[in-house]
Amino acid sequence: MADLVISEDYFAEKEPTGKTSHGDGENFHWIWPVNTGNDGAAFSDDEVKAAYADHGEEQVPLGIHGTTVAVDWDSCIAAGSCMSVCPVQTFQWYRTEQDIPAADVVGKTFEGTGLTEQDERLDKSDKSMPIREHDCTVCMACQEACPTGAILIEQANAEFHEKAAGTYVKMEGSGNPHAHD
Ligand code: SF4
Repeated sequence: MADLVISEDYFAEKEPTGKTSHGDGENFHWIWPVNTGNDGAAFSDDEVKAAYADHGEEQVPLGIHGTTVAVDWDSCIAAGSCMSVCPVQTFQWYRTEQDIPAADVVGKTFEGTGLTEQDERLDKSDKSMPIREHDCTVCMACQEACPTGAILIEQANAEFHEKAAGTYVKMEGSGNPHAHD
């Protein structure tokens, strides 16, 4: 397993830079600031760089997409290992639903109709979007399979998703957190 590029406490003391919504009108995943603590494997991968050149598109830092299923898009080289192992199709190739620059997915709604097989990427400038982060069963397979260590699976980070959304309720003991003032 590759060393993970996202630290477990990455989301503490940070604010999301935006979000991408799911077309179900209910779910969304946050986008977090660029991870300066890694070497950004996508910027040194020749196939990724060539794909951007083919698009006539500048390759810019993109940050981390998702919180409990966190994908560092600057380390994602579109290998697709996560797609091949995920039992619930958490991920989709974003460009196969909307072929736009990755920086422009901020604030957009995706229907979840993008392709989900390992080799169905549009090209190597495509990214693994955790569009169904909410369906993750925490099996850890994608984190272990990713060749660049770009994925961190941490259910406890739901706290940071919820705090940013304003829906966080602190759990106290084993009682119903909604039962007290
Ligand atoms: S941990 Fe398992 S279920 Fe969750 S996104 Fe990764 S492969 Fe899919």
